Amino acid sequence: MTSLRSLAACILLFTFTNLALAQSPTEPGHTQAGSPHLLGYTEQTSTAERDLEKKFQDGVLPDNIRENMRRLSARPHHVGSPYDKDNAEWILSRFKEWGFDAHIETFDVLFPTPKERLLELVAPTQFRAKLQEPALSIDPTSNQTSEQLPTYNAYSADGNVTGELVYVNFGNREDYEELDQMGVSVKGKIVISRYGSGWRGIKPKVAAEHGAIGCIIYTDPKGDGFYYGDDYPTGGWRPRDGVQRGSVMDTDYPGDPLTPEVGAVPGAKRLAIKDAKTITKIPVLPISYADAQPLLAALKGEMAPEAWRGALPITYHVGPGPAKVHLKVASDWATKPVYDVIATLKGSAPDQWVIRGNHHDAWVNGAEDPISGMAPELEEARVLGEMHRQGWTPKRTIIYCAWDGEEPGLLGSVEWVETHVDELKKHAVTYINSDGNERGYLFAGGTQDLQEVVSAVAHDIKDPEKNISVYERAHLRGIVHAKDADERGKARKRTDLRLTELGDGSDFTAFQDFAGIPSLNLGYGGEDEGDQYHSIYDDFYWYTHFADTNFSYERALAQTAGSTVLRIANADLLPFDYAPQYDAISKYESDLEKLLKDKQDEFTERNLELQEGALTATADPHKTYVPPPVETVPPYMNFAPMKNSLELLKKSSEHYSKALAKFQAAGTAEVPQSALDAVNADLLNVSRLFLNEKGLPERPWFKNQIYAPGAYTGYGAKPVAAVREYMDQKKWKEADAQIPMVAQVIESISTGIDKAADALDAAVPAKH
Ligand SMILES: [Zn+2]
Repeated sequence: MTSLRSLAACILLFTFTNLALAQSPTEPGHTQAGSPHLLGYTEQTSTAERDLEKKFQDGVLPDNIRENMRRLSARPHHVGSPYDKDNAEWILSRFKEWGFDAHIETFDVLFPTPKERLLELVAPTQFRAKLQEPALSIDPTSNQTSEQLPTYNAYSADGNVTGELVYVNFGNREDYEELDQMGVSVKGKIVISRYGSGWRGIKPKVAAEHGAIGCIIYTDPKGDGFYYGDDYPTGGWRPRDGVQRGSVMDTDYPGDPLTPEVGAVPGAKRLAIKDAKTITKIPVLPISYADAQPLLAALKGEMAPEAWRGALPITYHVGPGPAKVHLKVASDWATKPVYDVIATLKGSAPDQWVIRGNHHDAWVNGAEDPISGMAPELEEARVLGEMHRQGWTPKRTIIYCAWDGEEPGLLGSVEWVETHVDELKKHAVTYINSDGNERGYLFAGGTQDLQEVVSAVAHDIKDPEKNISVYERAHLRGIVHAKDADERGKARKRTDLRLTELGDGSDFTAFQDFAGIPSLNLGYGGEDEGDQYHSIYDDFYWYTHFADTNFSYERALAQTAGSTVLRIANADLLPFDYAPQYDAISKYESDLEKLLKDKQDEFTERNLELQEGALTATADPHKTYVPPPVETVPPYMNFAPMKNSLELLKKSSEHYSKALAKFQAAGTAEVPQSALDAVNADLLNVSRLFLNEKGLPERPWFKNQIYAPGAYTGYGAKPVAAVREYMDQKKWKEADAQIPMVAQVIESISTGIDKAADALDAAVPAKH
């Protein structure tokens, strides 16, 4: 669903990625408990592990990754297509060949495909949108028209509507507040929104909430296209007819719309399509800027605010009208099979599982999204299989997954996790995801109990173009990009990479948010020279000319993700550390307090200006101006329960860090593995304590009470969502009422960490 976009695109264009820069400078990090050997290893096992990882890293070959990409992206392979199944079977046979115990698990899910798409300007002039990305003679797979999914947004409601057009910028809630002040309503109108600034599914959702009857989403070149460089095929950037396909499934729950919370297996209880809450309320269609320009140019009315204007050679007006459009969307609402490939390499201690995954389905050929993540994953598995053949067996069981149906709505991974949730809660130690990869810096997101281990692995991986470690490169970037001297100072002192919280948007979602499994998302990016996200041009020709052309960052991804798998799978003691996680959660709490204070100040000031008549007096009388309504200033909230629980978490994480340092210092095999196994069982349980089976108050599928995506941000994380989302809706009392529940969750996490700390403390003999 997501891809690692160009850094320029991520930051300047507000397009979303779930991978924030790993090295964002905050607090100085924690060291590896002051030990010369690897976290969670003794002196002897540490040396053996280093040798093993070195062997693994040397075994990863770029040519194999290139060949995997060529094969998997050779034809369109969306859910339900012949080549999607063909790829799944090919991946299965590779895993088997490499010695994995592998099978395909199939689920039957609702996946709509386009039947009718029509968009025309009917007044004041006439124009019919092409809705087609043309084949390019230089690009050998761009002409596979008969197998390409047309440009569309999956899970758009069917509809046939005609109405005046309104330009709504990114279509976020704040954009509609600005429209209100311009006196512009979208009620009964069709909105046109540009891509960017949040997940695409939010645009039709918010439009429908404001009474719009249809939604068009277009790619403005200021966000994605010639604004960044030459367009394809001269350069790598999106051409005038390029379209971003994508899902607009609503955020109540991911996965099959008809089977929330349970696997879409034969006999599963299914909702009627009309009762599925995640299908949009109004028809939606994505278009290119070539198709959008005549529509936008036909708008009159107020000038769009400066920040709303894109890079097209037109004057951006808001409307409504006189442009009037006719939009017709109809889908074939069929059930399609998704094929997850699950491959197991059994460990010597098979009770704990390390899971690694990437999706294999694409919107079209998908060389970058998802194959630039899938191709390295397969090379990891090949090398692991080779080492296994030579006599090595992992300690923990390693499970490699190739998910289907990620693009429409994480279908394959969500249905798999829902089906196996009980076993996963019992056995899963970590889930490591990737989803696309390009040139540049290491991006890492995830739960911060893994921050230390990821940082340590990043020290061992060499940046292929700079000849320093990928850790060093990311660390130095954090210094250069710090926003002031204070942040720069903190960034210099850091000894680890900060893991940014994950929301939604790739296959880690069910693992983290539904099953409470420590999760990671890894990838490189930020120096790419183009973007063809969800277009027919995201293909092998494009990737090998404009992305990671020599596959050296593809190799780096395989080395990084594979080494992380090995480091966690082979550790004597699970390499978790809770001090960074305490830091992160404590920051989430202070962010909530700051949000409250900011809102109190903002509304107090605005109300004062309304009272003074300042807003009306300074508005241009030649333009319509509707002052915003008087807001109720938010009452004080009681964060004390959460702060008290955080004090406990601080103590227990320090308690654990101390026991861990003692273990690391012991440094020999003095600690019997049986005692460590008891600690490992305690550690495995800690992340499950983040769950509340009732889920978030308005989204019961999301069980994790600390990490969650926002209902109005999609990809973006909204930590402590139970409190945060009510605050965003200005429901202060409801938000306040959630705080004790979150405090209780934090308390029980703290108790769980204490238990593990006591056990570890008891297992390690005191030094004499
Ligand atoms: Zn993807």
